[in-house]
Amino acid sequence: MRVRFWGTRGSIPVALTVADIRDKLARALVAAEGRRFESYGEARAFAEQSLPFSVTHTFGGHTSCVELITGHEEYFVCDMGSGARAFGEHILARQAGQPAIVNIFMSHVHWDHIMGFPFFGPAYVKGMRIRIHGSHDILEKAFRMQQSAPCFPVPFDYLGAKIEFIKIDPGKPVEISGLKVTTQLQHHSGDSYGYRFEHGGRSLVYTTDSEHKLEEHSEAELFAGFFRDADLVIFDAMYSLADAISIRADWGHSSNVVGVELCQMARAKHLVLFHHEPANNDATLEGLLKEARRFEELTRGDHALKVSAAYDGLEIDL
Ligand SMILES: [Zn+2]
Ligand SMILES: [Zn+2]
Repeated sequence: MRVRFWGTRGSIPVALTVADIRDKLARALVAAEGRRFESYGEARAFAEQSLPFSVTHTFGGHTSCVELITGHEEYFVCDMGSGARAFGEHILARQAGQPAIVNIFMSHVHWDHIMGFPFFGPAYVKGMRIRIHGSHDILEKAFRMQQSAPCFPVPFDYLGAKIEFIKIDPGKPVEISGLKVTTQLQHHSGDSYGYRFEHGGRSLVYTTDSEHKLEEHSEAELFAGFFRDADLVIFDAMYSLADAISIRADWGHSSNVVGVELCQMARAKHLVLFHHEPANNDATLEGLLKEARRFEELTRGDHALKVSAAYDGLEIDL
């Protein structure tokens, strides 16, 4: 399986500001220390090899949208955040006029997780089939409401694709086009569901918009079971630990440190911090990643956990 991140930011999309770009340029020039570059290629190679991640990249601009590539001809994606627009363009280019089946797995229907759908190109194309899976009863109503007047000019019924809504009972594994899918109820305003996907001996957990309270033992055990031995866990790490246990307790999100602890309990292999706080800039997010890696090192037993932070465009093979 391969995972491709199209949107990784929480709550609302963010773009780099003028100040962010000036800061990156200035830091790159300082790091270059007066070097001369004979060509664009040389300068680019220097940027790729010698500059820190937060200078050469940016963490998610778009809200939640994560593609799973299984080798099956159908498409699989978690959530329809604003990253869905670029994902839709990718599908249309790749299909080159041929119809496709797209399976969408919805964690919940908060706006940041559905806002990309009205801009998802395949939804407008006759012959496309879109299956929206989820454990909420309110899925279809939410998708229709966001495309209702006066908030959006194109009503849901105008869409050319054949769109179905399919309920997944929580806790009961189902097989969807070769992919084994299990959902788990999570703590979040209006409820959210985590997903465990299994295919070809690999497992992936997508758990966003979920507040984990590790002091409640049965809770921690339940989620450690859901994450058990996962090759990859995409985890709502919107806050730092300090924020999560103080000012932002009960806001329905988790922290980088809680992600490490749960993955250690579950003996998961790779944790990816996801659903980044929109107020955090790239340097702050890089700091949260370093903090999580340091915490993992200090608390590591006989099982090492790899820790990464998601950004739009990241691809991971598992
Ligand atoms: Zn969200
Ligand atoms: Zn939410």
